[in-house]
Amino acid sequence: MPIKVSVKGDAKVNIRLKKEGAGLTPSKYLPDIGSLPTNGISISTNLITFMEMRTESVFRPNQEDIEVVYALTGSSKNIPDAIHKFSSNEVVPHASSDRISYYTEKMVEHILEERKSIPELIVIVHTHPKGAAELSEVDKNTHLQVANKMKELVPNASVMFGVHAVSSESRMPRTDPVKIAGNAIKWSSITRQHEAAFFDKNSKPVEVNVWTKV
Ligand SMILES: [Zn+2]
Repeated sequence: MPIKVSVKGDAKVNIRLKKEGAGLTPSKYLPDIGSLPTNGISISTNLITFMEMRTESVFRPNQEDIEVVYALTGSSKNIPDAIHKFSSNEVVPHASSDRISYYTEKMVEHILEERKSIPELIVIVHTHPKGAAELSEVDKNTHLQVANKMKELVPNASVMFGVHAVSSESRMPRTDPVKIAGNAIKWSSITRQHEAAFFDKNSKPVEVNVWTKV
């Protein structure tokens, strides 16, 4: 919930909770978990907040944003319920503004350690700072290889991929996540636009929906 802070003439600080507005309050039109489709993936607004925090937290003053990789996992085939940050050298040996590399085995190790159970769904997402939420040719090849490796390591899990585009910085009003294509969602924080698109291992679009916990 957004908090409004104002300082009065006598230097007393008043903090009051602001009820209206986009903020981190999810829109009322979003479906709840009971009415979610059983195809594709359905991402909660809570998890989207974490996706935003993960990608924006790479910010360093006067330096270009670097790519990050994170994963969404779930104990059902369609609904991710956790995020894995992979902010570790042993998972990500290299990251720059236009390239990232990661070890699939270590990624799975971290996921299993954090979840304490084998997930039914693994969605591996990497960012495109100042780029588009589209797959590059390198992405397409990498995803196929990663999916094959995942099949060996976690045979029952459904594996998908996401590309999360993050704009450069400028002030703007926050907007709630909305679906902009069958496989893509879009929203804004107060400083960056975010767009995330989802694909299967063969680079075919995966249907995505946004929902909210009630
Ligand atoms: Zn990419």
